[in-house]
Amino acid sequence: MEFKLLAEVCEKLEKTTKRNMMIAIVSEFLRKLSEEEIKPAVLMMLGRALPKYDPRDLNVSWATLSKVIKRLAGTHWLDFHQAFRSTGDIGAAVQAVLERKRMENRQSALFEKPLTILEVERILESIAEVKGEGAREKKDRLLEGLFGRATPLEAKYLTKIIIGEMRTGFQESLMESAVAETFSIPLKDIQMASMVTGDVSEVAYLCKKYGKNGIANLGFKIFRPVKPMLAQMATNLKEVFEEHGGKTALEYKMDGARVQIHLSSGEVRIFSRRLTDVTKSLPEIVDLVRNEVNVKEAILEGEVIAVGGDSKPMPFQYLMRRFKRVHEIERIAKDIPVELYLFDILYLDGENTIKIHYAERREMLREVAGNIPLTKQIVTSSLKEAEDFLKAAVEEGHEGLMAKKLDSPYTPGVRGKYWFKVKEVLPPLDLVIVAAEYGYGRRRRWLSDYYLAARCGDRFEIVGKTFKGLTDDEMEEITKRLKEIAIREEGNRVIVMPKIVVEVAYNEIQKSPKYESGMALRFARIIRIRDDKAPEEADTIDTLRKIYESQFLRKSKRAY
Ligand code: AMP
Repeated sequence: MEFKLLAEVCEKLEKTTKRNMMIAIVSEFLRKLSEEEIKPAVLMMLGRALPKYDPRDLNVSWATLSKVIKRLAGTHWLDFHQAFRSTGDIGAAVQAVLERKRMENRQSALFEKPLTILEVERILESIAEVKGEGAREKKDRLLEGLFGRATPLEAKYLTKIIIGEMRTGFQESLMESAVAETFSIPLKDIQMASMVTGDVSEVAYLCKKYGKNGIANLGFKIFRPVKPMLAQMATNLKEVFEEHGGKTALEYKMDGARVQIHLSSGEVRIFSRRLTDVTKSLPEIVDLVRNEVNVKEAILEGEVIAVGGDSKPMPFQYLMRRFKRVHEIERIAKDIPVELYLFDILYLDGENTIKIHYAERREMLREVAGNIPLTKQIVTSSLKEAEDFLKAAVEEGHEGLMAKKLDSPYTPGVRGKYWFKVKEVLPPLDLVIVAAEYGYGRRRRWLSDYYLAARCGDRFEIVGKTFKGLTDDEMEEITKRLKEIAIREEGNRVIVMPKIVVEVAYNEIQKSPKYESGMALRFARIIRIRDDKAPEEADTIDTLRKIYESQFLRKSKRAY
């Protein structure tokens, strides 16, 4: 099958937003594909050159690709820039540049040999496999060969596949529906198979080759990551007890990165939450698992956290440096040491364990984990005990708790009520409005954006700004009141006397050069107007500083 047909299908997908129409278009196309073609075609339509879990990587940046195309088309970067400005899409910009070139040269659309889907697959794989000396040049040559044979429309989609941004709106869940329709298999069976294999292209292939039987009784495969189970946010611990029937397991929610660890006969591979292979970035975790886990085959889940010299967790951005790193790993491993805490087991020596209840899985995990710590956990039916556990988690520098229903299975890819995340809420602050701005659109008649200040002796210092939290009626009322206490106007902004106190919730206090106070509230929102409080009773800068310090005392000092 020619690649042109795949590009035409993608073009049709891009032009519609109707889900059913998209599914019908893809399903009609899938029917025409052969056994060998279906897998690469499904991946390419999702904007992937290789399956997500594949340890190989194309490693072709836009800078490299655009250079190749510029060379082929003999254009200047300004042409690209212009094409990108008018289309807003890299793929479409490539297409536009190549079209123009073709018109200038009055080239006919005669291309010697049309590209096929299988050829494109082979060339992409070759690009991913190029290694060693002269790799850059070899990649360039392969790319030139590929784009040299592509029509402008094909080049548009090749670009999208290589860069990994399809942007047709046709996502994995729609692909599952299309596969279900093509092979007349219930969607829930396809979804299940897709969760288990972590790869919808594999599911399409199995259906094509073996029909419905191909995906019946699919088990997990070692080295094929499974979609992770997700958690809902609970507003408080009481809600958790209600949903979990009065008793629940609580675990520390560690602020790290989720890893899925696959082990088979001493070989260990680690996958990120997004199912990419991150084995190379975490050599010490590979060794740890190899040494400690004494079973033949297993799929384990856990959280990797970065720790400072003071053994407290470091903020997330430090950990991300470890994950992005493929070179000089040893040096950075010393700088940013990581620790692993395990929390689940999905597979053990030939058996899926996901149907087994959480409480039992946890026991299994304990047995196989050797000396690797599990996430700290309690099982409780006491709200007080749960609250103390949450406090302790936060004090030790963690994000909060995960609450897990004791008799629940592991549901890959599902965000249900079996798992809840519970985070600490920082105490609300009473702050004073010292200025306000008119809004936009529907809000332009109101002073709807408020500068919030804390007390500092007999002055007020701004610590944040918000337009969130008030109803239309409240905004109407507060606008009137603010105008009455206005001191002066500065363009769109009205400076007012510090009279109105509001209670404010926020997620974090950050260091910020934006305001004189040197601090800024993150995600501030007004809970209510506190007419019962006088400005002299508002919270002070000192209070904010204390909360700020308490936040960072829990995190490793190295980060600050
Ligand atoms: P969120 O990313 O906020 O939806 O929270 C879920 C994430 O919390 C998971 O994907 C894990 O990376 C992380 N996490 C930390 N500790 C745990 C734990 N004990 N159990 C499950 N997930 C955890």
